[in-house]
This record gives sequence, C-alpha cells and structure tokens, in this order.
Amino acid sequence: MNLRTTPVLIHDQPVVPGKIVCVGRNYVAHIKELNNEEPAQMVVFMKPASAVTETLHACLGEPLHYEAEICLMSGEKGFKAVAVGLDLTKRDLQSELKQKGLPWERAKAFDGSALFSEFVNLQDSSQPLEIKLLVNGEIRQQGSSRMMLYPPDNILAELNSFISLQENDIVMTGTPSGVGQVNPGDHFSGQILQQGKVLTQADWSAV
Ligand code: ZN
Repeated sequence: MNLRTTPVLIHDQPVVPGKIVCVGRNYVAHIKELNNEEPAQMVVFMKPASAVTETLHACLGEPLHYEAEICLMSGEKGFKAVAVGLDLTKRDLQSELKQKGLPWERAKAFDGSALFSEFVNLQDSSQPLEIKLLVNGEIRQQGSSRMMLYPPDNILAELNSFISLQENDIVMTGTPSGVGQVNPGDHFSGQILQQGKVLTQADWSAV
C-alpha cells in the first residue's frame, strides 16, 4: 500500500488537493479525434488525490495515453492559480468501459494518472490561457481557453450547480486535440501561457 500522497506545488508550497475534478470533451477538435459526440451537458469525472505523481509512466498495466490540460486551482473566490497537467488515461480500457456504459475510474483515476507543473497565481483572468505540449521537441497539443466549449467561468458555474469546490481542489479543464500514447524515453514539455508569456511549465521524461 502506498500511504504517501504526492503534493502539488503552489509557489513552492506543497499542498494536497481534496479532489481533482476533470472536464471531458471540452474542445471540439478533440471530440472529433476520438469520434465522440459533442455533449449536451458538461462531461465531468474525478481523480482522487492519490492519483497525483511526479513520475510519468509509459505503461501501468497497459500503455498510457497523455492528455495535456490547463489546470486550475480553486481558492476562496473562484480559481486562484494555474498549472499545466497531464491526465493520463488507459485508453483501451476506457473505450471498453465506455462501450459498456460503465464508470471510467479504472481508466482515469488510478495511482499515477495525474501530473502537474507548479501552480502559479492567476493575475489577470481577462486574457485567455493558452496551453502547449511538446513531445521530443515537437508541438503535439496546443489550445486556448477561448477554444473551450466550457471556458473557466462556465466550468465554475456548472460545477457549483452540484458540487462544492474547496480550497486547493484542482479542475482539469479538458484536452485539445493531439492526444497520443506515451512511449518510454519520450520527453514531455508542457507550458501555460498568457499573451505569449510563459506562466508555468514542466518537463517530464517518460519511464
Ligand atoms: Zn482529460
């Protein structure tokens, strides 16, 4: 049993989120690449705090797929901080579960399924947030909160209608197109930008 919870960092301070709420199917191009339907309602699932890791695994029982996401941390008044995160997914298993109409936790909530860069305070919420993921130096994913079906304010309003966000909870806001398999030795570099300026970034090498 692994009793140690991996904290996330907000300006170098370790915190353990109470919950990680994930939005699915938030970018039209990604919905199309997985042949999913555009949702009539925001798609929501969760990862427990025990999902957080600092190690990017290429395989945990089956090959993992990466989804780079703009991740927001909740504070007293709305979202207070932002990071780049990876929502790691057992895609084969998820497809099987989807087909059977079963919950996704086995494919999405396992130990080691969430990685985050350092969270940094959100200074200016009037400008869109952008995300960039490079794999081995090549741009694989790129997106902006402008491209989201549910941008951050709408996510907050929708979540508030049925779930309470507490201080330091994390919301993963969905992935743009360009998802794919993690291969051992791959070098991942994720960035969150605002008006072309890098707010926070992370580098991970897959094992
Ligand atoms: Zn995701």
